[in-house]
Formats: sequence, C-alpha cells, structure tokens
Amino acid sequence: MVKKVGLKGITVPEYDCKDRNCPFHGDLRLRGRMFKGIVKSAKMEKGVVIEFDKLYKIAKYERFANKKTKLTAHNPDCIKAKEGDLVTVMETRPISKTKSFVVIKKEAGTHKVIINEDKNKEVKVEKKVKKAEKK
Ligand SMILES: [Zn+2]
Repeated sequence: MVKKVGLKGITVPEYDCKDRNCPFHGDLRLRGRMFKGIVKSAKMEKGVVIEFDKLYKIAKYERFANKKTKLTAHNPDCIKAKEGDLVTVMETRPISKTKSFVVIKKEAGTHKVIINEDKNKEVKVEKKVKKAEKK
C-alpha cells in the first residue's frame, strides 16, 4: 500500500519496496526536523551518512560561522541514494542506535552528473581504440 506523507514537494518514489521502515510503503511516521545534505557514504546496509553546513553563533565576535554536521539516516530500497547525491532527510522515531532520520527525497543533480561524466569518459576511450585500429 502506498502512503502519501503530506509534505510539500515530496512525491512518492516510482519504485516499490517492502521495507517496513519506509515512509511511503511501510508504517514509519515522519515528524520533527528536516535537513538537506550530500551523501558522504552509502556503505551501510540500508543506511547513509549525510553531511551539511549549519550556522552557529560565536558570541564573543557577534558573528556567524559554518559548522559541518554529519548524521546517519535510513535509506529505503525505493529511494536508494548513492554517494554524492543531494538528499532530503526527515526525523522519525529511532530506527537503530544511530539512525533516527530517513531519506525522503533524492534531489536530481549530483549523482546524474557523475553518471554522465563516466559515460563521456567511456565514449572517449572507445574513440581512441577505434583510431588505434585504423592506424
Ligand atoms: Zn518504499
């Protein structure tokens, strides 16, 4: 059964999954804070580490500075975020010791660009091979 999460700009992914901890196909409820970040590592099974900048105030100088924050989030099968993707995460109940966030959207961009670059490289290599054959 597909469930709408009721958030602006968040659509149900095109793929299906049987993950119990999926906000669209399982019975996970979303609440709390929402962040956008870049996936730094997707080596975990059904989990990702994301990183983003956070503004914090330095009282002494009355100014703001950026601080990098890392957090682990659950990565459902229907989204499958990979390294380098820009994703949106939202808070949920704790899923494991460190995971209390879930990936709810994969923003188009970063990952697609990386794929295209790889394809171009392959094409160039093929052309070189063909030239070498002609000689
Ligand atoms: Zn799902």
